Amino acid sequence: MCRHLGYLGPAVPIASLVHDPPHSLLHQSYAPRDMRGGGTVNVDGYGVGWYPAPGRAVRYRRVGTLWSDENLAALSRELRSSAILAAVRSATVGMPIVETACAPFTDGEWLFSHNGRVTDWPGSVADLAKTLPTTDLLTLDAPTDSALLWALVRSRLATAPPAHALAGVVAEVAAAAPGSRLNLLLTNGSVLVGTTWTHSLWVRRVDDAVTVSSEPLDDDPRWREVPEGHVVTADPSTVDVQPMGRR
Ligand code: GLN
Repeated sequence: MCRHLGYLGPAVPIASLVHDPPHSLLHQSYAPRDMRGGGTVNVDGYGVGWYPAPGRAVRYRRVGTLWSDENLAALSRELRSSAILAAVRSATVGMPIVETACAPFTDGEWLFSHNGRVTDWPGSVADLAKTLPTTDLLTLDAPTDSALLWALVRSRLATAPPAHALAGVVAEVAAAAPGSRLNLLLTNGSVLVGTTWTHSLWVRRVDDAVTVSSEPLDDDPRWREVPEGHVVTADPSTVDVQPMGRR
């Protein structure tokens, strides 16, 4: 399954998360440690989102392998941000390998990533998709489970706090498509929210910074694993972990 990470805190170079740590997202793209039966490597695409100004998300994403993008490696050493969300993709069998299927998905201040798959896509969630405005379906980034999940989350963000929006979508999709893997990650640059639904997620809060990552970026003992079936809401001063209820 894909790997993703998020960061909030003092502005840091994107490379300090994506390229430089011993078990950076780059390293996880070809040597992940905990894929839990969902693929071997993450080589079908990648993306990085950051904030040049508060509330203004910018996203760069490409098909292919993160390690072959020397331009991004160089830019990532210069681009600094106080909020970053990045992902590498291992496409689910049957899903198109295109740029628009790569996370992060974005809208306004939001950046979103999904690690996992929807069981029996697309029939299992057809009724759920019908609850969305037709224009949302016609303008999905790509015909993939992750893009639909983003549309479902985005529609809930209009009325619900981020953790409720993610937990609500996980509950509805898990009910419609049992066995789905629904590890979601979302930020607006001020708060990071992530779910654990069959995959690992780790949090490290140090001083005035918080990092959330599918796998720890290094062997710092301050990484804490988020238990399965939970939603974590984190900012630089607080980490809150809540159960999402039974599967
Ligand atoms: N199912 C999603 C996709 O194909 C995510 C894949 C994954 O997590 N490996 O893009």
